Amino acid sequence: MRIISSVEQLKQAVGVARAGGRTVGLVPTMGALHEGHKSLVDRARRECDVVVVSVFLNPTQFNNADDLRTYPRTAEADAAMLEACDVDIAFMPTVDDIYPEPDTRVFHLGPVAEVMEGAMRPGHFNGVCQIVSKLFAMVEPDRAYFGEKDYQQIAVIRAMVKQLGFNLEIVPCPCVREADGLAKSSRNVRLTPVVRKVAPAIYRTLKESLRFAEGHSLEQTHDWVVATLNAYPEMEVEYFSICDGITLQPLDSWDQSDNIVGCITVYCGDVREIDNIRYK
Ligand code: AMP
Repeated sequence: MRIISSVEQLKQAVGVARAGGRTVGLVPTMGALHEGHKSLVDRARRECDVVVVSVFLNPTQFNNADDLRTYPRTAEADAAMLEACDVDIAFMPTVDDIYPEPDTRVFHLGPVAEVMEGAMRPGHFNGVCQIVSKLFAMVEPDRAYFGEKDYQQIAVIRAMVKQLGFNLEIVPCPCVREADGLAKSSRNVRLTPVVRKVAPAIYRTLKESLRFAEGHSLEQTHDWVVATLNAYPEMEVEYFSICDGITLQPLDSWDQSDNIVGCITVYCGDVREIDNIRYK
């Protein structure tokens, strides 16, 4: 495995590696790697000749300075994990490598980027599009791998790919969970022991809502999930949206779409946890 930080070296190394028509897979990450990231890397390894993983804590997608300051940084362990996963190139640049000058681009990706995370974290998806578009231009991957834990992020990146005309396949990968159901996340290490104990209620409640939904309206199901989770003193739902799985716009009734997901964000203490479930 080569560890590269310079953009020029990255382009050169990928150019050499893809010679002869070898396919290139890219897995963008912000580091503090865990089994969720590993599942993306393993899939890329199975499906592509050359695997590039980027590890870059992208400041432009953080709308909260404290979140960026306290985000776990584990570069050495990350490199060791990627080496063990048989990655070809670990791209671990500095902020100056990526942004030698400020990225002033503003993306307008329409309604899909304006709801939920787009509404709660102003500038977040713009930063995501800045870094992901740069990575796509540098690596020119055939496939790029993203986790369905961040359901809306995939929809936004698909919209960006369409708008900018990138010629690549976005590969969505299932959410990897702890044994108790909590979605694996780099931020989970910041949960206090007490909050860590109750946090699995998020996914448990989402799963139970599948059954509840069979006998109740969409609105009743929405309200039941929110009330069930808010009953825990350690948790507060920021939003729960039962929405169309493609447009991400909120729905009023179960028969309005045949592709329905519920996307939730819950403050667990001061850690913001995100999760989702498919209704149909
Ligand atoms: P991050 O480092 O949090 O930006 O995540 C990098 C990529 O890994 C994104 O595509 C995430 O959706 C994905 N990812 C993060 N956590 C998980 C998980 N528990 N299961 C599957 N994919 C994940």
